[in-house]
Parts: sequence; C-alpha cells; structure tokens
Amino acid sequence: MTLLFRAVLFLGLVAPVLAAAPLRVVTLHSVLTEIATEVGGPEVAVTALLKAGADPHTFNPAPTDVRTLAQAELILGSGFGLEPYLDKLVANSGTKARIALARAVIRETVPTACRHGGHAHTHEEIDPHWWHGLANVRAVTQLVRDQLAALRPAAAAQFAARATAYAARLDQLAAWAQTEIATLPPARRQLVTSHEAFGYLARDFGFTIHSLQGVNPEAEPSARALAALIDLIKRERIRAVFPDSTENPKLLAAMLRESGATLGGTLYADGPGGADTPAATFAGMYRHNLTTIVGALR
Ligand SMILES: [Zn+2]
Repeated sequence: MTLLFRAVLFLGLVAPVLAAAPLRVVTLHSVLTEIATEVGGPEVAVTALLKAGADPHTFNPAPTDVRTLAQAELILGSGFGLEPYLDKLVANSGTKARIALARAVIRETVPTACRHGGHAHTHEEIDPHWWHGLANVRAVTQLVRDQLAALRPAAAAQFAARATAYAARLDQLAAWAQTEIATLPPARRQLVTSHEAFGYLARDFGFTIHSLQGVNPEAEPSARALAALIDLIKRERIRAVFPDSTENPKLLAAMLRESGATLGGTLYADGPGGADTPAATFAGMYRHNLTTIVGALR
C-alpha cells in the first residue's frame, strides 16, 4: 500500500465524520432560537445568547459570549436596532461567522407612531417586534433554511423538509387565529398596552394600538400621555388594558385606574417566556396573546 493510497483511505474514513460536525449557530432572539433548532435539527448546534424571557431591549452580552461568537459559523439576529452591541461583539470576538438578520427579509414593516405622547414629534419608527406577524416568521424560516443550506449544502434537503414542516405549523396557527379573531367585533379591536410592541398583530387583525410608552419599555410615560390615554379609554369605552410580561401589571392598573378599564391579562411582547410559562414556544406565545386580547375585549 502506497503512502498516498493510505492517506486517501484515511481521509475517506474521516471525511464523513468531519462533515457531520454540527453547524454552530448563535441566536440573538428566542424566536430565532426556535426556528434554527426546528429547521437545523441534528445538523446544527444552536447557542442562544438571549435566553427565553430575556428582554431584548436591555440585553448586554457577557464576556463569555465573545468566545461563543468566535466559534460561531452563523449568527442570527433581528436587526431593527435591537442589537446595538453586535458590531462591537463581532469585532472583539474576531468571528468569521455569516450574519443574517430577520430585518432583511421582512417586506412590509409597520411604523410606530407616537400618538398619545402629547408632544409634537412626527418621526416614525419601525416596530422591531417582527415575531408578532406570522408572515414575518414564515419569511425568517425561509431565511434560516437558506443560510443553513449555504453553509451545509449536504444537508440542504433536510433543512428544506424541516422548514416546510415548520411553515405548515404556522399555517395551522394562522387558520386558528382567523377563527379566534372572528369572534371580536371590529369596533372592539382597540389595544391599550404600556409598551407598543404589537404593530404586526394589529395590522394583521385590524386593531388600533394606543400605547403609553412607545416601543422602548425603558422610557417613562409623561403625565400628559397618561391623561390623554385615560380620556381615550373612557371615550371609546375600552374594556381592558394589557401589561406585558416584563413589567409590573399593578403599575399599569394604578396609572389607568380612573379610566375604568380592567387588566386584560399579561401579554408576551418581547418573545416567548420561559419553560414554566404558557408562552414557552412561539406558537404558545402567539396563541396566548391573541386569546388573552380577544377574551378580555369581547
Ligand atoms: Zn419590546
């Protein structure tokens, strides 16, 4: 046996093992974690930088995240300004990973207008909470499929099959949502939240959104904004208002007490909750939010 032949034989034995090493994917939102895990299957090892229930508006990477990023082959983020730390993290880690952002495949974005701010600012921002629109989640599923296939062409068929299966579940969810929303008269589709995060849900189902704080839950509401919102709730006879999972519901209730509206239940604005919540998966979050809204406003 020649040395060359032995080398070829050796490579022939080793190559399939190397090819089977899982593709290392780092995710920057829990819906991306779910999609990458579902579509990637055993061919992919997903590391979530943002754990379930983490607040994407205030997330800051830990020093150990630099090492995770350095070893990544694909980074999946949202875009929309939700990852202001990313450029620095990429530079510090020296990662050569591809970066794919949900923003790149979301065709119809929803602006957020500060309607009750009581101040004359007219600029429009884009709602970054893309995961509340099923069309967005479908588009991101295809993005993830394509990115994984580009990096592991040998497994492209598996990624495609799993993406199709995941999209079928999204179709079922969409059909369920149409039945659910049909029970709520259009005149009652008024959504009062403290954090303006449901622009895509509102667009899909004809809700008008009234929010106290705008898209960033860190911002403090003004007294004028609060008074305007209380007036509106009384005038429109809106039955319920909705705190979100990252804040104290009693605070919203106290602020809006004189409006006469009740607390409609907690919504998951910034993504799925932890494993012990009714919103542990994307579909769980979506169903929980819509059921809670429709049930309280009906
Ligand atoms: Zn948010």
